[in-house]
Amino acid sequence: MKQSLLFVPTLRDAPQDAEVRSHKLMSRAGIVKMVAAGIYTYLPLGYRVIKNIEKIIREELDAIGCSELLMPALQPRDLWEESGRWDKYGPELMRLQDRKERDFCLGPTHEEIITQAVRDYLNSYKKLPLALYQIQTKFRDEMRPRFGLMRGREFIMKDAYSFHETDAELEEWYKKFADAYTKIFLRCGLETRIVASDVGQIGGSEADEFMVMSEVGEDTITYCMSCSYAANQEHSGLQEGDPCPVCGGTIREAKGIEVGNIFKLGTKYSESMNAKVINKDGQQVPVVMGCYGIGISRTLMASVEQHATDEGILWPDEIAPFQVHVIPVNAKDETQWILANAIHDNLKAKGIDVLIDDREERAGVKFKDADLIGIRRRVIVGKLAKENKVEYIDRQSGVKNIIMGDQILDAVGL
Ligand code: ATP
Ligand code: MG
Repeated sequence: MKQSLLFVPTLRDAPQDAEVRSHKLMSRAGIVKMVAAGIYTYLPLGYRVIKNIEKIIREELDAIGCSELLMPALQPRDLWEESGRWDKYGPELMRLQDRKERDFCLGPTHEEIITQAVRDYLNSYKKLPLALYQIQTKFRDEMRPRFGLMRGREFIMKDAYSFHETDAELEEWYKKFADAYTKIFLRCGLETRIVASDVGQIGGSEADEFMVMSEVGEDTITYCMSCSYAANQEHSGLQEGDPCPVCGGTIREAKGIEVGNIFKLGTKYSESMNAKVINKDGQQVPVVMGCYGIGISRTLMASVEQHATDEGILWPDEIAPFQVHVIPVNAKDETQWILANAIHDNLKAKGIDVLIDDREERAGVKFKDADLIGIRRRVIVGKLAKENKVEYIDRQSGVKNIIMGDQILDAVGL
């Protein structure tokens, strides 16, 4: 891919309102462009990362037996009346009317729509378990949209819903989702901690959050120094120095970014919205549900926060927008240009995502942009091109080597 055609509007300075490092870098590196408070355009580089995160999510959820569907963002009031949430949800719900003055909302979450989708079909325990997910844009009129993609008013979420005959079966699937989530976040370069949380607007009996420990996190996590106990402070009410409710050890506090959460909904929606099945004993019972969210745009932001310095990003391998960045120092020098292009074509033919900086910019500008953009493997094609040599840098390990142009494939190790 030619950098001149990609549309990467890098900036020297971060916008005034950018408070945290990831927000500053995402604006400066041409990852996102703000449209209004909490509303962003994902520019080509950022959208490539989003698609990579989505691919990982799809792979891990498909592997545990989920199916993907797509529900509408525009949702009619009557379904929200059925669940009782039209009145309860409050000002975060984006409400609007059509030309006939009928009420709608822009979905902040999809429990109502998914229950409506399956309730006619689910009549017997024989059709259970069932787990469905979608990747979609959500709308929430957040009181304080901030930190870029961290708290948007329009954001990308993966939401999944599971349906069961019994609580025991829900428990089994809840664990499967928890394991899948841990894998998903690790593949996105994020170590997460599972913490007990409140059920909030979604409701249900029990919930857990997946937290990335980070100074810029909006949540406070209380965790035990001696055992695996961890809970959102909102949920536990514990403070630094308190005794652990499980083992008596010492409680510590830390900040965290909530990238995902999982809920045992129980029968909250199936009862109010009449989604019932005949169970093994021949009785008609409300189906037992679980729901599972991942903030995809927030995961992108958390990953930048964890993998960056003030000078730029260093993308984790699996979500990087490109795997290799080829930089001819002087694109007007024919020898450099031919060698750089040959390396680009060669890697591309092997299925590797390569970006080539074909712009007629000074070397300093190119390197600064490359640092910002944050691709791990860099091939610099400069004066040594006439000897068929290039400089190869692995920015993760910091190792730099002068190698022959045709050794690049071995060097990148992909
Ligand atoms: P928070 O406590 O941060 O408001 P939530 O409990 O409202 O999150 P859910 O309704 O469970 O979150 O949404 C699932 C996931 O979507 C969250 O774990 C988070 O990663 C993401 N998310 C929620 N609200 C936003 C937002 N305003 N902007 C970006 N991502 C969000
Ligand atoms: Mg919220």
